[in-house]
This record gives sequence, C-alpha cells and structure tokens, in this order.
Amino acid sequence: MSDLRKVCFFCDEAIEEKKTLEHIIPNSLLGRLGIKEKTITGRKETQYSRIKVPAHSSCNSEFGSHYENRALNLLDDLDSLYETIKSEEAGLPMVYGPDESATAIITTWLSKIYYGLFYYDLISTQDEEWREICSSVVMGQNFEYVRASYRNGHGFQLPSSLYAFKTKNADTDLVTLVDPSSILLKIGSLTLILCICDGYLTKNYLNGEVLDRLRDCVRQEDERDIGFPSHKLALGEIVALRSCIPKTPKFISSDNQIINMSLSTMVADPDTYYRIDEQALSNARVEILRGFNIELD
Ligand SMILES: [Zn+2]
Repeated sequence: MSDLRKVCFFCDEAIEEKKTLEHIIPNSLLGRLGIKEKTITGRKETQYSRIKVPAHSSCNSEFGSHYENRALNLLDDLDSLYETIKSEEAGLPMVYGPDESATAIITTWLSKIYYGLFYYDLISTQDEEWREICSSVVMGQNFEYVRASYRNGHGFQLPSSLYAFKTKNADTDLVTLVDPSSILLKIGSLTLILCICDGYLTKNYLNGEVLDRLRDCVRQEDERDIGFPSHKLALGEIVALRSCIPKTPKFISSDNQIINMSLSTMVADPDTYYRIDEQALSNARVEILRGFNIELD
C-alpha cells in the first residue's frame, strides 16, 4: 500500500508540494453546533476537530469553494434546506453529471465526510481489525469511482439516495455504517441520511407515499417522546429496506464519466422480479433497530 499520507484524499494523485490538511468536519460547523470537542468512536475516541486528511492545496480550496461553502450556506437555514431536498426528491436523475441542486451539493459533502472518516482512521488506527474494515472502504471500487467523478467535475460522489427528516429533538448525531454504506448526520432538527453509492436503488423503492408514511412515523415517535432517537428509526428503516433490495448497484466508467447502470434491467417482469420480501424486511428492521438499541413494540 502506498503511503496514504502523501496522496491527495480528493484526487488520488501524489502530493509533491507542501500538503494541506482537509478538515473532514469543518470547524465552523462544529463551532456553530457547540460540539467542537465531542468525540466519536471508530474503535478509539477521536475529536471531530482533529479529523483531517491530506490534500493538495488546490483540491482543498476547490472543494471548499465549490462544495463545502455552499453546503454550509445551505445548512444556515435548516427548514429551508429540508423543504428544498423534499422538493427535489421527486426526480430521479437518469443522467449523472454536473449538478448544482441542493441535493447534489449535500450529497457530495456527506460523501466527503463518510469517506474522510474511514480514510483518516485507515491512516491513524493501530487496531488491525478496524484497519481492515477501513481499508475495504477506502480501497474499494466505489471510492475509486467517487474520486474519478470528482476529477471529472461531477462532485465527490456516485449516485446515492439522499433523505431528509425533521424532528423536534435537536441533538446532534453522526452515524456511519460500512454495510450497507450509509451516513446519518443530524444537525439540530434536520436529519440527513445518505445511502452511499446505492445507485438510487433505495430511492427507487422509498419515495412518494411510502416515504411520506415513514416521515409520519418518525414525526409521531418524535412527538410522543422528544428524547427518543426517532432519526435512528428512519435510518433503521432505510438500511433494512436497502439490505432487502434484490439488486446491487452497478456503475461503469466510460470516457470522462461514470454511468449508473443500477436501475436498468433485462428481466421481463421487473415488478415481480425485484419485489421486496416483506417478511425478510420485517426481520431486517428488527435486527437493525436492535443494533441501535431500539426495540419495536
Ligand atoms: Zn488533489
């Protein structure tokens, strides 16, 4: 393995000049949330503000001005961001390319946080087992495509389903999952959940009325008990669904773009062929929520 400290996190090229360090979770956001010193745990405790990865100064400032500053501006008004993401979620982009929507900016930003956390841990962990896990994320084909996408100017992301939820509970939370690769970032009353590199498969099932029902369910639990982690109920449902989708994301790299093949099919009757097994979903839901220490009635 080449020395990751000398390779740019964003573009995967060697860093010859003086390297800069990219803050995975920007200090300005931590300051605003008042959680600058909060620790997160992979296997060891780390302070948010210490999580940095090597980057070219040009990539660092390019990402900052093109994506991060815009993401932070969007986060200045959580209610409005929630409404914007909701209004954008009806469309399922078939062509994947440069996109200035709030959904695309937030997706790129969350994708950077997700991969950045594993990248940082891969560089810094002393725990062999955890290093293996981080390595599987950072050395995987999807991350290679994410960086190719960034180099092509299409954002630091692959097609990924983004969901927004609103709660009265205003605690901050950050959850990452390796399988299926997902990130939840809760900033005050807004919960963002990104199904990393799912090729929009999750969105293909969870949309419209089904999604409205999930939002209602989260809202009811939040209103019933403001201390209840209702945002994790949303994550659990999304992860359970995703684990039961009888189809895997598929991307191909061609010329200067990554093409999302996940939604195409050759079968004659896709509705039947790709139907979710309700019993399997129900079992997955119970198991995943139990992992979050949530017992369903
Ligand atoms: Zn670079």
